[in-house]
Amino acid sequence: MTRNEQKLREVIFSKSDSKVWEEARTEWIIKNIYDGETSCSCGKIPIKKICLLVNTVTKNEAIVGSSCVEKFIGLSIDIIFKDLALIKENTGYIVHLQTVNFAYDNGYINSWESDFYKSILELEFLSIRQKQTGRKINGKIISMLKRFEQ
Ligand SMILES: [Zn+2]
Repeated sequence: MTRNEQKLREVIFSKSDSKVWEEARTEWIIKNIYDGETSCSCGKIPIKKICLLVNTVTKNEAIVGSSCVEKFIGLSIDIIFKDLALIKENTGYIVHLQTVNFAYDNGYINSWESDFYKSILELEFLSIRQKQTGRKINGKIISMLKRFEQ
């Protein structure tokens, strides 16, 4: 284990309920995602894809970069950051299911919007109307990505 991994585990453990790593890591969920610059709980600086994690048992929070979230906590988030970057380039881009679910779970889109988006994911061609609605929903999805303020 590298020194960074060690440090991240210490921070996560100190804010978790369980003293068993495999259990402790499952207590954490991603509360918010940001772009900006700060340092990861592992000590790495700077990180630009920033996640605010919250422990569902202790309610403690931790700032962790996306690659550490993927690697150590085991929550996949990189695909969501990628989707958001692609919406910025093309408002008509269709995001992955994971991103739709994350937006819905965090209250950025409602259940109708979530169902609509899921229904177009599989389609090869979209009507003009479907594209317009997709763009509108993308506008809400992109609002998940906040600017990180220290
Ligand atoms: Zn890290």
